[in-house]
Amino acid sequence: MNPAQLSFVILVLSGMAILLGFAAFGVQSLREREPRAARIALALAMIGPLIVALALLAPPLGRLLLLGILGAGATAAMVLFLWPIGRIAAGRETPTIRFDERDIMFARARLKPGTPQHAAYYALRPANRAVDDEIRKLPGLLAAHAKKAHPLHFATAAACFTVPAALREWVDGQIAGTAREFEPARITAYLKGLTRYFGARAVGVAELRPYHVYSHIGRGSGEYGAAIQLDHRYAIAFTVEMDYDMVGPAPAAVEMVETAKQYSEAAQIAVQLAALIRSLGYPARAHIDGNYRVIAPLVARDAGLGEIGRMGLVMTSDLGPRVRLGVVTTDLPLIPDAASPDTSVLDFCRICKKCAENCPSRSIPFDDRREIEGALRWQIDAVSCFRYWNVIGADCGRCLTVCPYSHPANLAHNGVRWAIRRSGFARRAALWLDDLFYGRNPAPRPAPGWTAAADR
Ligand code: SF4
Ligand code: SF4
Repeated sequence: MNPAQLSFVILVLSGMAILLGFAAFGVQSLREREPRAARIALALAMIGPLIVALALLAPPLGRLLLLGILGAGATAAMVLFLWPIGRIAAGRETPTIRFDERDIMFARARLKPGTPQHAAYYALRPANRAVDDEIRKLPGLLAAHAKKAHPLHFATAAACFTVPAALREWVDGQIAGTAREFEPARITAYLKGLTRYFGARAVGVAELRPYHVYSHIGRGSGEYGAAIQLDHRYAIAFTVEMDYDMVGPAPAAVEMVETAKQYSEAAQIAVQLAALIRSLGYPARAHIDGNYRVIAPLVARDAGLGEIGRMGLVMTSDLGPRVRLGVVTTDLPLIPDAASPDTSVLDFCRICKKCAENCPSRSIPFDDRREIEGALRWQIDAVSCFRYWNVIGADCGRCLTVCPYSHPANLAHNGVRWAIRRSGFARRAALWLDDLFYGRNPAPRPAPGWTAAADR
């Protein structure tokens, strides 16, 4: 084959690859209910081969020149792909204090004026009283007169929340007799497999550290304000996936249904796991919605499930922040996962800022991480975020739906995830492509078709 023939074959193959690649991505985007991405991909599926066809009409020398340019471009992209730009020197950031659960917005919102808990808290934190009183006057979560209220969806979400509420007293219990002996690696592998079998997406083990544990009880079982003693040695942390289609319309009532459902799933998994471990003769406590003794995102991060990103949620490697968390703490000897910081996520969050731009309450910071209680991190404005939730009646979730890490785990998006883990250039290119295909301020996606029956 002479060079002219070779250039002809390479160009034809390139044209076919462009056509098939973009067409497949376009079809996938339609299935993901991303019309903008589908339109762009299908346009590129036509334009790319058209350019190649025009090149085929050129004289052999022109074709060779075009191939040379394409080859040089591909080589430059590969070099940039390996270039270590955007490398962040990051240690494992660990807070130097234990957080008080009474300070979280959920705990503060439950305080009823005239109760001893209300009096005790605002004697402790008088500065929080005015803003909390203001939030208490808003419609509130799942309220019928909230801005995004939907009678059937809110009723569904409330029904899902009855599961973690009903399991509240089952998070802990009696230990059965004598502790059975297990080889730590074997029981760790079994429990991880079992957790996935129960419905978790990912699972990891961390050694329990003091900063994982709240200092005082703010809600759930136990006495409000009591100091927390939790001396378990290990924590099993897991994620459950939030359905891509259900979170797409956020902020919307239908997204709240998905949040409630996944808290319910996580609670069932954690309670079953803890009950099993207690039956083997070891203490174990499940940490579930409304009844935590630990800060689940910090435990999950240290168990190797992801990095804490700009929006303050755990960014998992395959689903980004589109997960909910569950934790079981125990003394059963386990093998912790070796979790080292994933600086690619921190670098991506540093340049991306899409969640901050799209947050309706402007609660997510635009600036770089800063040191808070001894740890370098981003801190969202929990008050303004929670205030917005109480206006709309749902948990918003706009930040997690626009996050480029939240796309479904399939071939195309997993390929991008793989690339951005290894290359600063790929991270910048991926962000540019995400803005191009999905928009810098993407419109909420339509709710799944079956939910329309709730509107009739
Ligand atoms: S939207 Fe961007 S900045 Fe925000 S958490 Fe996701 S990757 Fe990070
Ligand atoms: S949940 Fe909504 S209001 Fe809260 S930080 Fe995310 S986007 Fe902003």
